[in-house]
Order: sequence, then C-alpha cells, then structure tokens
Amino acid sequence: MTRAVLSVASECAPLVKTGGLADVVGALPAALAGVGWHMRTLVPGYPSVLRTAPGGTTVWTDNDLFGGPAEIRATKHGTLDLLILDAPHLYQREGSIYMGADNQNWADNPERFAALSWVAAALARDGAGGWYPEVVHAHDWQAALTPTYLKAQGTDVACLLTIHNIAFHGPAPADRLGSMRLPPERFTADGLEFYGQINALKAGIVDAQAISTVSPTYARELLDPDFGMGLEGVIATRVNALHGILNGIDSEVWSPAVDPMILPYKTPRGKARNRAALIASFGLEAGPVDGPLCIVVSRLTDQKGLDVLADAVPRLVDAGGMLALLGTGDPALEARFRALAAQYPQVGVRIGYSEPDSHKMFAGADAVLVPSRFEPCGLTQLYGLAYGAIPVVARTGGLADTVIDANELALRSGVATGIKFWPVTADALALALHRLVYLYRDSKTFARIQRNGMAQALDWGPSAAAYAALYARLAD
Ligand code: ADP
Repeated sequence: MTRAVLSVASECAPLVKTGGLADVVGALPAALAGVGWHMRTLVPGYPSVLRTAPGGTTVWTDNDLFGGPAEIRATKHGTLDLLILDAPHLYQREGSIYMGADNQNWADNPERFAALSWVAAALARDGAGGWYPEVVHAHDWQAALTPTYLKAQGTDVACLLTIHNIAFHGPAPADRLGSMRLPPERFTADGLEFYGQINALKAGIVDAQAISTVSPTYARELLDPDFGMGLEGVIATRVNALHGILNGIDSEVWSPAVDPMILPYKTPRGKARNRAALIASFGLEAGPVDGPLCIVVSRLTDQKGLDVLADAVPRLVDAGGMLALLGTGDPALEARFRALAAQYPQVGVRIGYSEPDSHKMFAGADAVLVPSRFEPCGLTQLYGLAYGAIPVVARTGGLADTVIDANELALRSGVATGIKFWPVTADALALALHRLVYLYRDSKTFARIQRNGMAQALDWGPSAAAYAALYARLAD
C-alpha cells in the first residue's frame, strides 16, 4: 500500500531554486516513490512556479489568507505532484523570492512564509481534494511553523522538520504574533521566543515530532556552539529526536555518461574534451607547467569560505593550477574574483547563475573546491565525485561525511576520493591545493582517485529508505 506524505518548502527544483534546499525538495518525491511513499509538495506560487507549472485543478480556497485571496492548485510537473499555493498578495512579485530589488528581505517575509506553514497545517487537517497526508515533512525556517500550527489547531499529524541550514532562523518582531496567527501564549523561552523575537526555526525545533538535518556530521555540529548559531541549546533539548540523513544527487540529471549538457564520458580519460572546452570557454591560459583545472560553483557568501580561496589563489597559480569560478552573491567577493581574473590569465570568473554552465564545469574540471566554513551537506562535492572532479573540501558537515581524504593509508587501500583540510584558512587551503597539484602530477594515482569517486553510489536510494523509515515511525 502506498502511504502519503506532504512536503512543504519555499523552493523546489526545477521550478524555483536558490540553493541545495531546492534540489533536495525536488528530488525527494521520485526517490520516495521507490520505497512506498507518495509525496505531494506544497510550494508558493511565485511567478516562475506559475509559469513553469500552469493549469491544474483547484483543491482548496481561502478568501483571506493573511490578507488576501488564495487557492491551491494541484498539478503535475515531471516527477513532482505539486500543490501550488497561489496567493498573489504574498508571492506574485518579480525579482528574488526572498528579496526586493533593493537587496533587502521583503518586509512581510514572516507573514509570507507563516502563511505557507499555516496552509500546510490546514491541508494536514482538512485534506486536499480528499487526499490526506499521514506525515508532514517541513523544510527550513520558511516551513518551520507548520508543527506549531498543527499543535495549535489540535491536529494529530506528525511533522518532521529538516534543517538544511541552521544559519537562517526566520526572525520576526514580537508584535507580529497576531499577523502571523501565532498563539500569544506560546511566546515563551521554551516556545517561539528567542532573544525577544519570534524565531520560526526554533518553533519548529521545539514543536516537530522529529528533526533531521542533511548529514550525520552536521547533526553533531548543531549541538556545538561553533555551528549551532545560538540554537545549540534548543537542539540539545531535542537530541533524542535528531537525525542526520545525507542528501543524494539526482542521477537522472547528474550523470556524466548520459548528461546532454556535456560531451558524455564514462572514464576520467573521457573528460579531456570537456576540459579543453572549459578552458576555451573561460579563456584560460595554462602556466608553463600543466596543473589541475579547479572549479567553484557556489553562492558567494561568507559561509562558503571563498574569501579564503581568494587569498590562496596566487599560490594555486604559482603551483601551476587554474581556476574557473561560477557564482553570484556578495558584491565584494564578486569584485575580488573579477580582479583576480584580470590579474591572472589562469583564472576565469563568471558572475551569474547557470545550470548548463555548471554541468560543463564539473565535466571539464580536475577538481572542485569547497572551502566552506560550515556545510550542512553540500552538493557540489557530490557532483564532483560523480564527474571525476576531485573534491577539495573543508572537513565539516556533509563535506566530512562524503569525501575520503587521499592520505597515505587511503591511497594504499585504494579508497581515496578527494582532499580534506581544516581549519578554513588560506594556509591550510593552500597546503591542500599543493597536495592536489602533487597528486595531479602522478596521473595514474590521480585517475584512480577520480575513478573511486565516479564509482560511488551517490543516488537517493539509501537516504529515501531512511526518510521512509522515519515517516513510518512518526505516522504509526
Ligand atoms: P547551498 O544550498 O548552501 O547553496 P549546496 O552545495 O547544498 O549549497 O547547493 C548549491 C546548489 O546550487 C548546487 O546544485 C550548485 O550546483 C548550485 N549552484 C550554486 N551556485 C550556482 C551558480 N552560480 N550557477 C549554477 N548553479 C549553482
């Protein structure tokens, strides 16, 4: 018998994406179908979502959802069974889904995503066109109030909250309790309150029946003041309900043997044509000695440690390496990398967001650099493994869990898949890059490491089974 789970999130690939959250939310339904769970996904009806998935049938309406009319349209898109929350006053805005043109968060973000969570709870209680979920799976702060509303309305449907990044809490001033339809009596230190404000993520941590995060190491790190972002104490009160389940990758989309965006290949040697194309497209010039072609595909934010990479770039170039970076974000970091590209012919930078370019980069690269200060799971190191671009990663979160460092023992045992370093400093990263260059010069060993990565099972199978087991425990 197929069982029913409602997923609720602010992003879902390929409809709307700013980061890894979207990839996970978009990939889970197909993965879960294989283990007996039918997942429907509730997402806000942003313009891009309405354009990509038009039509469908109306399964729920409300003439006053947090200040305006709203309806839910049920429609399918690829493997996704969508419930699109069409509420023009909340989501019908051009620009980024979280920010206006002034790069400031929309002032009503607390209500926009409280509404999403409120509707998830309403659907769990009232169903959607006769469909009732046995469990709700809420993602990140934008959906984290779902279990709080479920509790407030007395609905006996369990909720799993997945934390994809604990840095984002969804804070709101205390005087917004009313406009967010939150019970004032829950505004306490053991409830929604956090340093005088409403904290959506904290509410979810307190009220969800189970909490998961996207790697076992990040689950442990959440208890550590260095990583818990102030919520480590709250997490500690729920440690018995805390799970770490690694993200997988969508092997239909990320597989070098069949990827239509690249020149497909099955062995490290087959990467050569993609490498040449990548060098040409970024206009890179190799130094006098051939060195590894490194890539970065990333949001440019403090989390990702790319300021540290910028510091280490001269040493990478000196050692014969090249760098191609694709990313967007912090204007200061964008300017810093543009300047490095202007200074060094071995460095190329593309400021922007492009899925096709990212595929071409993984196909052409010898290494992918992920020097994150913290990384709940990380996807680009997984793409690197699949595409034979050796991950050079900080030893944190999911990066620590998914890469086997090419130390002597791992090399001798034939299990190495990448290079790890810590702490996130320019010196430690430069040392890791020197290790990369050294390995690259030993082409047999390098190819062995690439093959090890390419042979890894990185698909969603094991993680889908882990989520299914957790849902079953919560529902039964
Ligand atoms: P985060 O969610 O913190 O941004 P992840 O590594 O979990 O980090 O996921 C990032 C996702 O976004 C990956 O799929 C990555 O390939 C993609 N990505 C990030 N920046 C870009 C970009 N500029 N162009 C294309 N894809 C990008």
